[in-house]
Amino acid sequence: MEISIASGKGGTGKTTIATNLAVAIARMGIDVAYLDCDVEEPNGHIFLKPEITKEIDVTVPIPRVDLDKCTLCGECSAACEYHAIAVLGKTVEVFPSLCHGCGGCRDVCPEDAIEEIPRTIGNISRGVGMGVEFIEGRLNVGEAISPPITKAMRKLDINSDVIIIDAPPGTSCPVIEAISGTDFVILVTEPTPFGLNDLKLAVGMVREVGLPCGVVINRSDIGDDRTEEYCNKEEIDILMKIPFNRQIAEAYSRGEMMFEVDPEYEKSLCELYLKIAERVNR
Ligand code: SF4
Ligand code: SF4
Repeated sequence: MEISIASGKGGTGKTTIATNLAVAIARMGIDVAYLDCDVEEPNGHIFLKPEITKEIDVTVPIPRVDLDKCTLCGECSAACEYHAIAVLGKTVEVFPSLCHGCGGCRDVCPEDAIEEIPRTIGNISRGVGMGVEFIEGRLNVGEAISPPITKAMRKLDINSDVIIIDAPPGTSCPVIEAISGTDFVILVTEPTPFGLNDLKLAVGMVREVGLPCGVVINRSDIGDDRTEEYCNKEEIDILMKIPFNRQIAEAYSRGEMMFEVDPEYEKSLCELYLKIAERVNR
């Protein structure tokens, strides 16, 4: 079973829920993997403290033009929706940081003048931390295109029974890449006007890709009732409410798990998992 954890904005406690849930499931005796797909700023490692045993580079195939064969026809440039290749004077320029490695320019070149060369944009680390199989994607500094890393992570051979996917914040392409194909999406939010606005966007995104979802309200006692009213109106399950707790906030800043502060949270997270499992297997 694959459970993704997303949020309409950063700073809601998404990674806290994802890592704590993974460890709680592992402590139930279930093989679990945690995938940190927040590849621009992965921080699950701070909590799971994994021992990394394997690292692999992620590359995208970018075009290289053989100017001896090229007739400067411009077909490649016209085919590229990312403006990553252009005929400039008597040459063809490739802009690697814009290239998604889709192969479209190579496919349309009538002279077979384009070959592809791999370009490293980031890496994937694998290991084990707190009884959880740990997999982290990381985009190299200065790179702009993260979906190929998430795609590479999703293609890995993972034998765990449960896979927890920590998606990037927001509602853009990298988030959709991370949550697509999962069995259930947990949306983590806060009961504030900004939180509610971002939750609505996130619900719209999840419904667009046709996935079931439920909500975890973090710091549930700091705002108002509008988030709960919205969930009730939209018939979205509120799976768990976590009141603000200064000790948990301090534990977070030290990279500690929630149930190191209050063991009751382990029970609540196990219940959260069982609720989702029941819903997925219904
Ligand atoms: S591989 Fe795709 S994204 Fe890259 S330059 Fe060619 S058409 Fe554009
Ligand atoms: S499509 Fe091929 S021949 Fe035409 S400009 Fe591009 S590389 Fe040159």
